[in-house]
Amino acid sequence: MAKFYSSLAEIKKELYSGSVTVERLVKNYLDQISVNTHLNAFNEVFDQEALSASKIVDERIKAGTSGRLAGMVIAIKDNICYKGHKVSASSKILEGFTSIYSSTVVERLLAEDAIIIGRCNCDEFAMGASNENSYFGPVKNYADNSRVPGGSSGGSAVAVQANMCHAAIGTDTGGSVRQPASFCGLIGLKPTYGSISRHGIIAYASSFDQVGPITRSIEDAALLLEIMAGADDYDSTLAQVPVPSYSNELSASSSKKKIAYLQEALTSPGVNSEVKSTLVNYIDKLRADGHTVKAIAFDYLDYIVPAYYILATAEASSNLARYDGVHYGYRSPEAVDLQSTYKRSRSEGFGKEVKRRIMLGTFVLSAGYYDAYYAKAQKVRRLIKEKTDSLLEEYDFILTPTAPEPAFKIGKTEKDPVVMYLYDIFTVQASLAGVPAISLPAGNNNKGLPLGLQLLAKRFAEQELLNFSKYFLEL
Ligand code: GLN
Repeated sequence: MAKFYSSLAEIKKELYSGSVTVERLVKNYLDQISVNTHLNAFNEVFDQEALSASKIVDERIKAGTSGRLAGMVIAIKDNICYKGHKVSASSKILEGFTSIYSSTVVERLLAEDAIIIGRCNCDEFAMGASNENSYFGPVKNYADNSRVPGGSSGGSAVAVQANMCHAAIGTDTGGSVRQPASFCGLIGLKPTYGSISRHGIIAYASSFDQVGPITRSIEDAALLLEIMAGADDYDSTLAQVPVPSYSNELSASSSKKKIAYLQEALTSPGVNSEVKSTLVNYIDKLRADGHTVKAIAFDYLDYIVPAYYILATAEASSNLARYDGVHYGYRSPEAVDLQSTYKRSRSEGFGKEVKRRIMLGTFVLSAGYYDAYYAKAQKVRRLIKEKTDSLLEEYDFILTPTAPEPAFKIGKTEKDPVVMYLYDIFTVQASLAGVPAISLPAGNNNKGLPLGLQLLAKRFAEQELLNFSKYFLEL
């Protein structure tokens, strides 16, 4: 099997010494992709295009004109638009649809000579936590093919996990970068809301959606963040501040920090015992190293998943109204007039979970229930945000597991969607509050399944978060 490179810096050393070429790297990844098709990580591989691009980047390296991502071969989640390429959000309703423009993130990555090797499978419209809700079938975890890779950016995580590319780009609305990263033993970063342009990202819940990298090293996460982040005329929710040079400023911070951890993570019966012991282990290590680590009770814990699912589905019901059988992709062949075009195309084009969420979202926004559900959930969101911000005034970081248990068996949550929703318990807090959060690999359980821990930081404290993460991984 082709070599696993832990960081782009390691690849660059070999590229500049001439012991490898970008073309060779792309060929190796393509080989890995072809022996791992059973994992179902890709919806489409851009093989010829990636090979042609690799030759150009090799030339640029020789000429000394290459960009900062020369040598980085990445995969993108299939809800990120790339001009002239199909994009499906893993849904039938986008069948045959081709992007007419590139997302800002794709443009920025290509401008630095990244190579995009393909588009990755995901939960339909990024709705899910297991990648089982895809029109193209479930993705399998490389560590154990009978288990899920997490979701919704499951294909992106597996593509990196199985060395089918060096890094991947996902989107995180309520945990979709962090949770699959944790199930696949990788680093997943959800930046502060307003860091990375959402232009050209297929919208799920616009007040939560953020793009994030899935990588093997903090260095790569820092570099990808700094390249993708920053103001963009096409997204008015972005912070209008210069992006720090995260990768240059990166240093494993060892100054003494104040860290809070959620008491419930250790007491709740819903959290797996290996996850608990991993958390305890890291708490002990941090304390032994002189950090202050304190248990906190987060009073709103019971409300975070319901608030998230009311708000995210409400936004989704509106965002997904545009798929009407007229403008994009699939149109029912049975449609005979406008009404039946809408009705049949949407009924046949959306999967079960997406329909459930459109109905739920439409319900909570409807005249009679708006105040009881949507407006109430907005108020709860505000309380969660304020409480999270005040905790992060007192503490540098909040430490939690990323997920209550390691990768579960495919089919486990099939009968009850709420069981799946509850898996988001630790990831949605950062999404509701808009603060940055990262999932870090924290070893494997006795079955060899990866476990992840999550750190939350203050809004726009990405540098501190990355520095501390680097140190954390060396603990
Ligand atoms: N599991 C969550 C959901 O289904 C989060 C998904 C995401 O972040 N896109 O909504």
